[in-house]
Formats: sequence, structure tokens, C-alpha cells
Amino acid sequence: MSVQAGLRAGAARLGAAGIGEGAREARLLMAAALGLDPSRMTLHLHDDLGPEGAARFEALLARRAAREPMSHILGQRQFYGRAFKVTGDVLDPRPETECLVAAALEEGFERVLDLGTGSGCILLSLLAEREGAQGLGADVSAAALDVARENAARLGLASRAAFQEADWFKGVAGQYDLIVSNPPYIGIAEMPELAPELAHEPRAALTDEGDGLSAYRAIAAGVLAHLVPGGRILVEIGRTQGADVARIFAEAGLQAVELRQDLDGRDRVVMA
Ligand code: GLN
Repeated sequence: MSVQAGLRAGAARLGAAGIGEGAREARLLMAAALGLDPSRMTLHLHDDLGPEGAARFEALLARRAAREPMSHILGQRQFYGRAFKVTGDVLDPRPETECLVAAALEEGFERVLDLGTGSGCILLSLLAEREGAQGLGADVSAAALDVARENAARLGLASRAAFQEADWFKGVAGQYDLIVSNPPYIGIAEMPELAPELAHEPRAALTDEGDGLSAYRAIAAGVLAHLVPGGRILVEIGRTQGADVARIFAEAGLQAVELRQDLDGRDRVVMA
């Protein structure tokens, strides 16, 4: 079988599994199976796949057809222009979260704290973009922190990024110019409606098992003690949570509470 024939069959198989971008994903999986750069795939369309290539491609297709996320199969995902290692122990970095990174980079900061750092994608993107800045990534999951540490090392940021096990602010010392977080904000009621891929991500990274706002309450309770005077906090929110999170922050004594929208025009970040 040729690579091209394999790609057609693979795209059809992923489409039948309910995957919208089957052709694109089949190309990425084929590239991984053959050890090729995906952008050079067209040069190999008429190559023979061979029994080993076909078996490797088939194994990757089967995982994707079972709705395992692409990032877990490929072992990484692009975020803010860099590749991050991703496993089932961390939330997959998402493009919406790049909006938080972009908003944070409009601020001046030297010391940054990322609460619920997961893969470390927010903290490490900020440190990579802001030379000389230092940061702490906190997470309640030791397994997630292992992934974040590996990402720091891969990106050459290990000397500027520290990681620590902590439950929101419990266990975090010191004050920061900038505090960021993309906490679990999906309410328990919305969990059953989610795409099958989300079953492969840590449940605790997605939902608070409550109304979706409890992480913001926990963060609001500790934030003033950990921000320098004039410091800023930026959190990602779900599209309907802007007013609630703005109120939680204002009631906690935070000032200059503002909302930011993502590229789709939806409320995505609260800053204060
Ligand atoms: N900070 C990480 C991210 O934005 C993890 C967030 C989380 O686990 N909720 O991807």
C-alpha cells in the first residue's frame, strides 16, 4: 500500500469515528509513524508504506479512533509557538489560553506565580518571552509537576522556573508581581456534555465538581497576601463566568477588575 492510499483509508476511518479533521490528523499520524516532517509528506505520497510502516500507522490510528487526544499520541502540543510535552497527567494546553499569556505579557513583571501550572505552559511561555523574569509553578498534582519540570528543562528555562506542590495558595510563600491561573472551571453539570477526548485528561484539571467557581474563590481568598502592591492577577474563565468572577475578585478587595475577550469574542480572562 502506498502512503497516499494509507492516508485516504486513515482519514476515512477517523471520520467514521466522529473526528472532524480526520484528513489532517491522519497526515500527522502518518508522519509520526514514518518519522517524517509532516510538512514534507507530499514528497512521500507514492512511497510504499511497507508492513512495518503500515503496522505503526495502524496502531496510532486505532488509538485516535478510540478518541485518545492527538497530543497524547504524539506526546506533545504546540502552545504560544513552542512544543510542550503532554501526558494524561496534565491538561492539554489549549489555544484559548494563549489569550491569557498575551494579556499577561502586556504587564511589567519580574516575579510570576502560576497556580495550577499543569504542563507549565503558561508560566514557561511567560518566562520564555520575558528575559530575566523568574517564576514559580504550583500544582496539587506531583505527577503534573514532573511534566512541568521536564518542559522547563526542554525549553532551557529550568534556572528561572521553580515548581512546588501546593493547593492554590496553601504552601506558597512570598509575593509576586504577577499571578496567573487557568483553574478547573467547568461546573459538574456541564461535564457530561463534553467531547470524548476530555475523558483522557485529569478530571481535577477540568472541573471543581461544583459550580465551576470554587477555584476562583480559593484564589481570591489568598491573592492579596501574595501580590506586591500594584501587582496584577489574570485568570482564565469560561465564557459565561465573567460577571461572577469579577464580583468574587471585587468582593475580595481587588481593584481595577477588567474582562478580556478571546479571538472568538468570548469573555476569556479576568484581570485585576
Ligand atoms: N496551567 C495549565 C494550562 O493552562 C493547566 C491548567 C489546568 O490544569 N486547569 O494548560
